[in-house]
Amino acid sequence: MRLSKLFTKTARENPRGEISVNAQLLERGGFIYKNSAGVYTFLPLGWRVINKIANIIREEMNKIGGVEMLMPALVEKKYLDATKRWDVEIGFEVRGKGEKKAGFVLGWTHEEVLTEIASKFISSYKDLPFAAYQIQTKFRNEPRAKSGLLRGREFIMKDLYSFHASEEDFWRYYEEVKKAYLKIFHRCGLEAIYTVAAGGTFTGSNTHEFQVPAAIGEDTIFVCEKCGYAENLEISRFKAGDACPKCGGEMVEKKAIEVGNIFPLGTKYSKAFGLQFVNERGKKEYVIMGSYGIGLGRLMGAVVEVSHDENGIIWPESLAPFKVHLIELDDKKGEADNIYERLLHNGVEVLFDDRQGKTAGEKFADADLIGCPIRLVISERTLREKSVETKSRREKEVKLLPLTKVLDLLK
Ligand SMILES: [Zn+2]
Repeated sequence: MRLSKLFTKTARENPRGEISVNAQLLERGGFIYKNSAGVYTFLPLGWRVINKIANIIREEMNKIGGVEMLMPALVEKKYLDATKRWDVEIGFEVRGKGEKKAGFVLGWTHEEVLTEIASKFISSYKDLPFAAYQIQTKFRNEPRAKSGLLRGREFIMKDLYSFHASEEDFWRYYEEVKKAYLKIFHRCGLEAIYTVAAGGTFTGSNTHEFQVPAAIGEDTIFVCEKCGYAENLEISRFKAGDACPKCGGEMVEKKAIEVGNIFPLGTKYSKAFGLQFVNERGKKEYVIMGSYGIGLGRLMGAVVEVSHDENGIIWPESLAPFKVHLIELDDKKGEADNIYERLLHNGVEVLFDDRQGKTAGEKFADADLIGCPIRLVISERTLREKSVETKSRREKEVKLLPLTKVLDLLK
């Protein structure tokens, strides 16, 4: 992409009223635009990052047998009436013009919708297990919409739902999803902590969260320094310094951002929608379910919170909008253009700062702010050496590399 064609612009100053680092850097870098409190546009650069996250999630969900689909954002009242969730106050009700009452809600979750669909297709133990997911915009009437992408009223989520014939099979799959989640976060450059949290709908079961330690986090967790066992403060009887019940190590208190969660649902939804199957002995039973969420925007915000410096974002290569940020300075011969075309031709994702009338300082500052992993500079000086200057976003030093070696570096 040529920067001269990108209609958004970077900003030097932090946007007014934004106190979180992710909102400041993502808005300044031209990744997101704040339309309303908790409502953001993903601008071209930001949308590229979201798509990278989405593709990592897809790959890992598909590996554990998840099938992708898309459910409606408009959820009719009858669905939520069936589980007495219509009156839950986190939704946005939708009322058509001229109608007195809201007949729909903007979906904030889809257990009901998918369970009803499944009830039309599932009848035998042979139809189970299965798991389906979607990546979709969800809505939540969030009075405390703040912290940039960490807490929104409209947000992109991956929600996976699984359906099983036995508890045993359910817990086997729950463990598989846990592993897939840890892999997703790792691939996105985050080391998430698997944390025990409150209230599943199985009697006595907990739910689990994936928490990324960060000062801005709204959750407080206790983590064992030694074995990594963790509990959310809301259910925990620990205090800092207590001994870990698993290994005797020290429990440490941390602020953290929840980037994902997984829930055992038991038969709550299958009972509400009559989702039954005939087991091997010819007896009818209710399907056992689980649901599993990841907020894509929140994940993006969490990455910025833990990976930045005073100059801007430091994207992991897996999520960077582009691998290479190519800058040309007084390049009268058009050599940078040639390099740009060559990189494109070889499938390298490159952002080309071809803007005229910008100083070297301005271009370097934008490269640091946007945060692509590799910066390449082509100038009259480097061309005299038949070279290009390279710098990693994580390091200070620059190196000269012969023009002929550029492709080798990027492979
Ligand atoms: Zn421990």
